[in-house]
Amino acid sequence: MGRIVQKYGGSSVADAESIKRVARRIARTRADGHEVIIVISAMGDATDELMDLALKVSPNPKSRELDMLLTTGERQSAALLAMALADLGVEAVSYTGSQAGILTTPTHGNARIIDITPGRVVRSLEEGSVVIVAGFQGVAQTTKDVTTLGRGASDTTAVALASALGADHCEIYTDVDGVYTADPRIVPSARRITEIGYEEMMELAASGAKILHLRCVEYARRENVKVHVRSSFSDKPGTWVKPHDEVRKAGKMEEAIITGVAHDRSEAKITVIGVPDQVGAAASIFEVISDAGINIDMIVQNVSRLSDVKTDISFTLPMSDGRKGIEALEANKNKIGFEEVLYDDQIGKVSIVGVGMRSHSGVTTTFFKALAAEGVNLQMISTSEIRISVVVSTDEVDRAVRGAHAAFGLDGEEEAVVYAGTGR
Ligand code: ASP
Ligand code: MG
Repeated sequence: MGRIVQKYGGSSVADAESIKRVARRIARTRADGHEVIIVISAMGDATDELMDLALKVSPNPKSRELDMLLTTGERQSAALLAMALADLGVEAVSYTGSQAGILTTPTHGNARIIDITPGRVVRSLEEGSVVIVAGFQGVAQTTKDVTTLGRGASDTTAVALASALGADHCEIYTDVDGVYTADPRIVPSARRITEIGYEEMMELAASGAKILHLRCVEYARRENVKVHVRSSFSDKPGTWVKPHDEVRKAGKMEEAIITGVAHDRSEAKITVIGVPDQVGAAASIFEVISDAGINIDMIVQNVSRLSDVKTDISFTLPMSDGRKGIEALEANKNKIGFEEVLYDDQIGKVSIVGVGMRSHSGVTTTFFKALAAEGVNLQMISTSEIRISVVVSTDEVDRAVRGAHAAFGLDGEEEAVVYAGTGR
């Protein structure tokens, strides 16, 4: 008997039937005698649909009002789930993030949790209720406005509550059986990873693996919350995310060099051509970009194709910030002193991640040879201690992922099952 937080993603509660199915699953956990806290996402693609609706009404909605709107998606699914549980004879109560005591910074659309005061949640648990909390939202401590924590952040709500409530662990239910060595939608022979350390999971999440929200993994590592990622469509064990030194090595096998391959098609590339090759030029470019509130990822600087006293600087940024980035640079063209900016959103990033690369040489060679064998051209390269990422053309991403996956011997025997649609 213990206290368990379970989070169900949008694809697990896409329609009325799915909500009843999830309710039955929760009822079983409750019947085993556990105290259960549920964090719920909006039904299916509800958040995207609300977003589309907002943009139809207004091209540039205020972020405060967007948060008021988007948080209703989770409020719906939470209330519906409470109704379904009541019909199964399970006492359940739904709360908004605010009611659950999730206090955040006032930044709409991307607020951070600063404190959790879960008094009402604890009282309801003590009264024997299942508590359902609407995911990815809270209330700003200063302004008292409703905030959202960023797309996909219900995972983060779940881990934060698990930590605040001292839960035994946090279960994240999704539409595949766990974290795979690559996205099974692209590599059907991808293998489920039984256990993975926080650091590797963070690199995979940061490299575009959508299975877990990056801040959820950061939070879990900081607060030492063990996370079990599994399918709500099967009873199979999933993937445990935990401290690296507690990760069991598969049998007597040596530690794998590479744990997984991730990809990301959400970024674009800006190239600033003909930047004066002098001290401070890069600083002035990235000052303009950061003043526009844009986070960049990879950077490459080269001798310019225009002249050898000039350089070209390329960097990647979220595609959704592409226009803003170009406009910010154009507005400062004379100040920075470049010739031209180019924009390319037909790119993708492919990354290999594994703590094993710390102690093995030749990993880069194996990776690049595999990409060459697939005829994939590399546009940018970046590395960390446990990751190598390359930027390639978007139509070469699938081939690059499959090639790398095979080259590091990650293919499994069984075909991975994808139970539902969106992978969110
Ligand atoms: N419904 C929100 C989204 O689609 C939050 C979540 O599902 O985690 O981003
Ligand atoms: Mg998700």
